[in-house]
Amino acid sequence: MENLYPRTVIDLIKLKSNVETLLGKAKENGVTISGVVKGVNALPEIIDTLVAGGLCSLSSSRLSQLEQVKNQHPEIETLMLRIPMLSELERMILCSDISLNTEITTLKAINDCCQKLNTTHDVILMVDLGDLREGFFEDEHLFEAAILVENNLEHVHLRGIGTNLGCYGSVQPDQTNLGRLTDLAAEIERRIERPLGIVSGGASTSVPLLLNGSLPKGINHLRIGDNLFLRDMENYFDYTFPEMHGDVFTIEAEIIEIKEKPSHPIGTITVDAFGNKAQYQDIGSHKRALLAIGRQDLGDLTKLVPYDSAIKLIGGSSDHAIIDITNSEKNYQIGDVVSFNIEYELLLYSTSSPYVYKKFIKGVS
Ligand SMILES: *Cc1c(COP(=O)(O)O)cnc(C)c1O
Repeated sequence: MENLYPRTVIDLIKLKSNVETLLGKAKENGVTISGVVKGVNALPEIIDTLVAGGLCSLSSSRLSQLEQVKNQHPEIETLMLRIPMLSELERMILCSDISLNTEITTLKAINDCCQKLNTTHDVILMVDLGDLREGFFEDEHLFEAAILVENNLEHVHLRGIGTNLGCYGSVQPDQTNLGRLTDLAAEIERRIERPLGIVSGGASTSVPLLLNGSLPKGINHLRIGDNLFLRDMENYFDYTFPEMHGDVFTIEAEIIEIKEKPSHPIGTITVDAFGNKAQYQDIGSHKRALLAIGRQDLGDLTKLVPYDSAIKLIGGSSDHAIIDITNSEKNYQIGDVVSFNIEYELLLYSTSSPYVYKKFIKGVS
């Protein structure tokens, strides 16, 4: 398996350092972190590294991944991120210690299922603060659910409340929307007459607030995937986290063709292999290389970031990526390997694809 391509090279030493760095920042702010493994397909080596780096809680939207965590590390607390399906409750209760919830029907069903299994389950109620994916939208509905769990669902424990921002609605977490979350937490605490364990202030998009000290007091938990693995968010949000390694993941693909060709296709233009009507810019003839990696492996190829900055990504299809190497100082040959940094979407695809080999860089242990 040593020299099989395409592959993603995963530097576990740098990953462990990222975990330690982020946990350090979180600790300074009184925040605990659940490491999110769905973006890396819960690869076993990565799970081991996250645990070695000090994470005590891991989360995912997929039960098979939480089962993987429990198989490897029974002592690690697991958190189910996607609102559970009624059809998966029994399995969920067996492999996840906590779940995020927004529906009374589901909460009651969890309680019944726990009773049957003679166990208990912790829940975090999610609040929608404007991103318009999951979450209670009306404050009173949130309070009703909290009180129901607290007083009537004997086998379900109300662990806290949380929110998710920046996933569907692209809403940036700030002191206003997260301040509302801490206000709602305080109101629930007043009504149930005890403190909540967790006030979960979001995902990687909340990290900028953690770094500049503006995370509202009262937020004591974040669920972080992207920020542990990549530094792609710094391209979109106005912050930098220079202590983190941005090259934990490197995609490597092999050149299978190099030819001088025009930049504009010749003939009647219809749609590409995926039914999209693409635009082709005519920039004259240039030196193009074909790489043996494609959209089946990675999704959107234009999110590949070449380490050789003179390389331009042109596009591709299911099994090919096309790059422009005209301006590169390196004289690429057939069989050469081209390396890329990646963004979140490519992380998701490349770690789950059986066609992308994984090479792990490990420390001496
Ligand atoms: C995916 C997800 C996260 C983690 O998101 P990152 O951007 O990878 O940090 C956190 N919470 C929920 C509910 C999620 O679905």
